[in-house]
Amino acid sequence: MPSVYIKTYGCQMNERDSEAVAAQLIAKGYTLAPGEATADVILLNTCSVRDLAEQKALRKMENIAADVRRSRPNVVLGFMGCMAQSRGQQLIDKLPDVDLVVGTQKFHRAAEYLDDIFSGRRDKVVEVAEEDRSEATIREHLLNGNAHKSVTAYVSIMQGCNQYCTFCIVPYTRGQERSRTIPDIVAECRELVAHGVKEITLLGQIVTSYGKRDLPTTDGKSAFVQLLEAIHEIEGLERIRFTSPHPKGYGDDLIEAYGRLPKLVESAHIPVQSGSDRVLKLMHRGYTRERFLGIIEKLRRVQPRMGITTDIILGFPGETEEDFQQTLSVMREVEFDQAYIFKYSPRRDTPAAAMPDQVPQPVKEERNQRLLEVVNEIGARHYQKLVGQRAQILVEGPSKKNAARMMGRTRCNKIVVFDGSERHRGQLMDVKIIRAGSFTLYGDPAILDE
Ligand code: SAM
Repeated sequence: MPSVYIKTYGCQMNERDSEAVAAQLIAKGYTLAPGEATADVILLNTCSVRDLAEQKALRKMENIAADVRRSRPNVVLGFMGCMAQSRGQQLIDKLPDVDLVVGTQKFHRAAEYLDDIFSGRRDKVVEVAEEDRSEATIREHLLNGNAHKSVTAYVSIMQGCNQYCTFCIVPYTRGQERSRTIPDIVAECRELVAHGVKEITLLGQIVTSYGKRDLPTTDGKSAFVQLLEAIHEIEGLERIRFTSPHPKGYGDDLIEAYGRLPKLVESAHIPVQSGSDRVLKLMHRGYTRERFLGIIEKLRRVQPRMGITTDIILGFPGETEEDFQQTLSVMREVEFDQAYIFKYSPRRDTPAAAMPDQVPQPVKEERNQRLLEVVNEIGARHYQKLVGQRAQILVEGPSKKNAARMMGRTRCNKIVVFDGSERHRGQLMDVKIIRAGSFTLYGDPAILDE
């Protein structure tokens, strides 16, 4: 059977989609190739959130077509995911070496399409139609990557987005919100835990909007909180995370859940995007700066140690120096542990792309630098404060930067590197933080002072 190599661009949802496609192909007898040089099928799972991500994937495919295809003409080349969805046939018109274009509701049919191509039934395949219940098809996992059992896993609970932020292409690439059922998700989580998984991260484009249209609020609890409670019941599961939420999803029921569900870890990634009410309104975010600050205050009241991170978009059309100052001040006021800063990238067919007063690139660069300094200064201070403290980590495996050491994550989602070995993998262990680097902590499991 052929071998496949999948390269993924973008968010955790994309990583999860690629994993499910890889697992589905393995179930059909495919093997996973270590890289594109030896693969019979090369798939790029793409991201459209910013132009940069699209350009990277296009350049990569051009290079693959020039190198790999010339020496091995039978290799099958394909695009999947968000850019495949939004550009469809145009991708083959632009890059005729591409054989396959798989949209965001067709991932589970990749094996079928490859069969068609290998058997000669179809020469090229472009499939980007909507498909009923496709949200329930991202289910299979690769649980033994690198011959080791996985400790953490992503579970996709829904697809699509109905928020229509004026900057964002996601509602057009992922479609309307569609949620899986609670029993289906719980069954998947149970299987993962039976295979040794200890921590599950629930995924959705706006994960907190889970089940809104299908499940009524019961006893003041939204569908998402009902799902958290059901997953919390699973014996052997130690930690629950989720990403990415929208601030509007932090009702009192969710905030209160952090106080009573011990497996729901004290960590939240809450995209604020801007600190200026004027810009938030233009973005169609649906909250004000004051409402956002109120959510953070309530969360910290329930969980004072809450690790909070965010996303910021800089240089949204019309953003003035005064608006930017508001973003700097929200950064300082909340003291986020980390912020992912995105320079606004106009996306086709989104309202913001046609707005007046587009911000020149040099201004975006300059604001990026200034914001980065504030983010790094606050982050360094927060990480430094943890030195000398004890923290519980879940050990995930070797450190990415130094495979001779092991890494784990605190409940607040901070990476801790320590001298350990494979026997620590999967353990929940206490470490003493002995040093802080740039957004990394160094721990010692042996010297725990009382
Ligand atoms: N749930 C999230 C929210 O509340 O908006 C959406 C996650 S989005 C797929 C990931 C991040 O990409 C966003 O939070 C935003 O900061 C960034 N992003 C989206 N569209 C963008 C654009 N046109 N230019 C720059 N950054 C963008």
